[in-house]
Amino acid sequence: MRIRLLAVPVLMFALNVFAAKPITLEGGFQVSPLDEMPGREMTMDLFEGGPMTEEQKLKYMPGGKAPAAVYVFVVKAAGKTYLIDAGFGNAVKNKKVDPAKVDAIFITHAHGDHVGGLLKEDGTVNFPAAPVFISKPESDYWLDAKTEGDLQKNVAKAYGARYKTFSFGDTLAPGIVAIDATGHTPGHTAFLIGTGKKKMLIAGDFLHAAALQFPNPEECARFDIDRKKSVEMRKKLIQMCIDNGWMIAGIHIPGGFGTVKSNGKGGFEYTPHK
Ligand SMILES: [Zn+2]
Repeated sequence: MRIRLLAVPVLMFALNVFAAKPITLEGGFQVSPLDEMPGREMTMDLFEGGPMTEEQKLKYMPGGKAPAAVYVFVVKAAGKTYLIDAGFGNAVKNKKVDPAKVDAIFITHAHGDHVGGLLKEDGTVNFPAAPVFISKPESDYWLDAKTEGDLQKNVAKAYGARYKTFSFGDTLAPGIVAIDATGHTPGHTAFLIGTGKKKMLIAGDFLHAAALQFPNPEECARFDIDRKKSVEMRKKLIQMCIDNGWMIAGIHIPGGFGTVKSNGKGGFEYTPHK
């Protein structure tokens, strides 16, 4: 009886997944962002140690908060279904994703809000057949005995031979290429999606509070492991999107994806896709 009572709030939380309208890119790539935590906000205390004063930051984060999200991206192409990250697992619990029909999962990095959904609450795999791909430096970091990371070590163990590593520059599936985005974590990866001119860069945790960090890319969230590299990576990935006319997507940015341009003041202006 106690277990049944406990299961209720989990179920209610799991039902709260927001599926934004999918977009189809050239080459027939359909990308659907699923927000596992609609209404999530990033608070200002997460962004300390950067060049801006609290007063300056408040202009971009009214009330000390900025809208955010936790997205899982479903990418469909040539009859295959891929996931970019596994979120907390709410998309599966919510039946927005059928885990048996996923052909592969590509992981941006191994923080809990990105790999938690790979395992069920009992520690067994959530995806019965799909291989899980993670960059070699990311895997090496988390599997090192010196790194605190039971979840990450459990994921590798639970998936066994289906836990696979890749190198930056690898094509993981036709039209899905792994791009070096290290900084936030030692093997943080962005995935470039599409085969036509209009591509989408799913840039993982290249930033956490869009309202603050697009215009002020020098500001870091405390989750950024290497702050200097994170700032360089953030600017580099955004500039790549501007130079190539790609859309930019992020796990924590409102709307999941959109377009970006220079704001003429050393920062950037993001417009979410509607
Ligand atoms: Zn994250």
